[in-house]
Amino acid sequence: MVESMRDVDLETMRNIFNERFDSIIEGRLFFTMEEPFEDLLRRTEALLEGHFVLTSGLHSSQYIQCARALQHPKHAEALGSCVADRFQDYAVDAVISPAVGGLIIGHETARALGARALFGERDNGVMTLRRGFDLQPAERVVIVEDVITTGGSVRELIRLVQELEGIVLGVGAILDRSGGQVDLGVPLNALLTLQVPTYQPEACPLCQQGSAPVKPGSRQQGAGG
Ligand SMILES: [Zn+2]
Repeated sequence: MVESMRDVDLETMRNIFNERFDSIIEGRLFFTMEEPFEDLLRRTEALLEGHFVLTSGLHSSQYIQCARALQHPKHAEALGSCVADRFQDYAVDAVISPAVGGLIIGHETARALGARALFGERDNGVMTLRRGFDLQPAERVVIVEDVITTGGSVRELIRLVQELEGIVLGVGAILDRSGGQVDLGVPLNALLTLQVPTYQPEACPLCQQGSAPVKPGSRQQGAGG
């Protein structure tokens, strides 16, 4: 079912990306072409079309699980490098990601920026830096997440960095599935922006057309949604 995994050559991807650099408006980077990223997510089945029950119980015609793309270190490196490209001129000291979804893309982004890769995790429900991670006042930070939906974890990390007197330069992500609607209070640079429709089961047009939804990843445990 998966198309044979074409190699994503890092330089090729960066060249495509840089050619498609469109304009800079109000400090936010806009790109007209997002196809290489969407194509990669589809080829690795990180982005599926169909009729799905998400873990929230809502139905959707799309299912997203970035881990499927990031399980290939070469793709993870390429995606991280593209997220990093948008912050190359910002003298970034540290990339901080929410565990678990942001770990791999955050690490690869940090590698490309020559920055430290930290992650935040919840301790009794509160987002914290554990494991001896340390952030000094005035350190320059980019928050990196795989998928932005409502931005809840990212907002908590922004607050945490600000409490530690760090400087949040912006947020990087593979995918903004809010369709560009989410406002994090700092610039958000996502490689791909999608409006992913979700429906209450009783109002789902796909159900009304008679199709039965599937739970993605139910054969393999642990798929998110
Ligand atoms: Zn449905």
